[in-house]
Amino acid sequence: MKPTLVNRLEKSLEKDPAVIYLLDRDLRIVYCNEAWDRFAAENGGRGLTRQLQLGRSIMNAVPSPLKPFFEEGYRTALSGTQPWEHCYECSSPTVYRNFRMMSSLNPTGEGLVVVNSLTLERPHDDRERGICFPNERVYVDSQDIVTMCCHCRRTRRSKQAPVWDWVPAYIEKPPGLVSHGICTPCMGLYYSQLV
Ligand SMILES: [Zn+2]
Repeated sequence: MKPTLVNRLEKSLEKDPAVIYLLDRDLRIVYCNEAWDRFAAENGGRGLTRQLQLGRSIMNAVPSPLKPFFEEGYRTALSGTQPWEHCYECSSPTVYRNFRMMSSLNPTGEGLVVVNSLTLERPHDDRERGICFPNERVYVDSQDIVTMCCHCRRTRRSKQAPVWDWVPAYIEKPPGLVSHGICTPCMGLYYSQLV
């Protein structure tokens, strides 16, 4: 029986474009959001629907050589001392893509919330051209303001709210006019009583 708090958290995560899942303390999957299925379908895992993942260990999805690394990372996050951050590449045949995975202790303390944000996506042809700068028009609103999450520092797409991207260039050098907002997962994680 899941506490209401977790149910409320799931509700706030369901429509988030980032692939988000919840793990129990034994690293079993207790929830995957809608984006899981979309990502699986787009990346050759059509049979790996989220329904089939429930109750399975997330470690089943980790290649053998990487298991100790992921196990330690998730355990660090479960200890509650700090979230565990891990950046990785997951490209498709047509695009080069980077993701940032953030694993945080669930507010109930009974498991983890794992958020996989897209940090970079570009055609393979551009791969050799070096750092990709963000397309400002995607993030600047009608008053030239860029909104960043006050907790995870992801940036909101101005015309596609509530889509939040991890934009490394904005972390290194903040854009001219920044307003601080809060993204849906952070709202659920840190202020679940408001969700
Ligand atoms: Zn956030």
